[in-house]
Amino acid sequence: MADFQVPEVKEYPVVPLIQEGVMAHAKTFPAKAEFQRTLGYPGELLDNWQETAISKMGEMLGKYRSLQVFLDICVKCGACTDKCHYFLGTADPKNMPVARQDLLRKVYRRYFTFAGKYFPKLVGAVDLTKEVLDDWYNYYHQCSQCRRCSVYCPYGIDTAEISMAAREIMDAVGVGQKYCNEIIGKVLKIGNNLGLPEPALRDTLEGLEEDVKDDTGVDVRYPLDEKGAEILLITPSADFFAEPHVDGLIGYGKVFHQAGVSWTMSSHASEAANFGMFIGSYENMRKVALRIREAALDLGVKRIVFGECGHAWRVAYSFLNTLAGPFDFLDPRYPVPQHICEFTYDLIQRGALTLDKSANDHMRLTYHDSCNVARASRMGNLPGGQFVIPREIIKASCNYFYDMPADTIHEGTFCCGGGGGLLTDDLMEVRVKGALPRMQALKQVVEEHDVTHMAAICAICKSQFTKVMPYYGFQLDQIVSVHQLVSNAIVLGDKQ
Ligand code: SF4
Ligand code: SF4
Repeated sequence: MADFQVPEVKEYPVVPLIQEGVMAHAKTFPAKAEFQRTLGYPGELLDNWQETAISKMGEMLGKYRSLQVFLDICVKCGACTDKCHYFLGTADPKNMPVARQDLLRKVYRRYFTFAGKYFPKLVGAVDLTKEVLDDWYNYYHQCSQCRRCSVYCPYGIDTAEISMAAREIMDAVGVGQKYCNEIIGKVLKIGNNLGLPEPALRDTLEGLEEDVKDDTGVDVRYPLDEKGAEILLITPSADFFAEPHVDGLIGYGKVFHQAGVSWTMSSHASEAANFGMFIGSYENMRKVALRIREAALDLGVKRIVFGECGHAWRVAYSFLNTLAGPFDFLDPRYPVPQHICEFTYDLIQRGALTLDKSANDHMRLTYHDSCNVARASRMGNLPGGQFVIPREIIKASCNYFYDMPADTIHEGTFCCGGGGGLLTDDLMEVRVKGALPRMQALKQVVEEHDVTHMAAICAICKSQFTKVMPYYGFQLDQIVSVHQLVSNAIVLGDKQ
């Protein structure tokens, strides 16, 4: 199946022996000139690219103090070296977080520190050459910005921020990534990552209403652009058609139905994902986020709820108010924004949903914490709510739940291998190898507890696992949406 060696899943996790340059060939496709320009970047590599890159780096060091701190304070203790799933899966030493950081750090030292300017060899400083730029392009696109390494760094150095900064510099000199930049272009033009226009969305949602009516006999609505609805649901566009995402969307609709609230989706903001974060561009992130504000104002909603999408929740939870606020026109009694899991959990706690767990008895579940939810956001009012709430929803919907090993969940969770703009077929080798630690942990609960399915609340995780699980001997339908479980279990109609 693969034109590369799929890593062997061993009985216990093993730190691999280093293989220099083994992933140097894994180069993601660059964005075409027209897509670069749509986002405000040069179409191709500038003639004066070195000068522009150094100037951009200087501008960012001035703007983002954390970036300079991260570049200055690493003591090379090595605590992060075996924490990255891409290093564990590929054995390429440049995929060790500290080495990935050093690709930028050695250029920073050369141009922005006294020692690097006058004694470069003494401090490992290097000129920014085309070879260095190529290394940046390859290895900063082998980082899913998952932030696992930062949890184990005694100084909290966040490689994700360095990776975002490197991508922003590369965009500024004309070498952006095809996958991210074309997708952002589609959102700005049409409203979602997939380029689905309003009629296609409407057709899909009408089809869902018919399917749910056939299955349950109940008229559950999946409304689009309905002015005056109470809730605006912002959900990843994968939810509109792909498996298992769409089963989650069916579940959200059933939950809203049982809650008796009016809700709508928007064709203007038909995407929760915000790839502006992946390329480190606050300007593009803001443009995407503003569409949500515009939709909320236009539709006159009182609340905004986000569907299952990991990085979208990070952008929403951490940045939405700064990027597109204030949201003082919404109902102040509810959080802005709110996660669909918070919404459902609240109903469960109040006894407002009847859930028949036996409807999921054909599955024995585990749960994959998505990086951006686990390490960059929160849910509810309790510390660690982002770990507790999805698990409580699963346990309320299923009889059989088993967590994976403790060092692979919660804040120590392993990335699915496809986050941060890596969910593209031209990076399949990186994605498959990067999934190794999660596959290892999954295998453990499969063997110990006969687990059959893994649930997630991230569109990227679901797409990634659907694609890579077969490489490890699992079935592609062993990944499920959390609200798919709710959808199976929920008893529609009057509260029993
Ligand atoms: S942020 Fe994640 S992918 Fe990037 S170096 Fe750290 S552990 Fe690896
Ligand atoms: S754990 Fe932190 S300080 Fe230690 S090598 Fe890694 S980035 Fe540097």
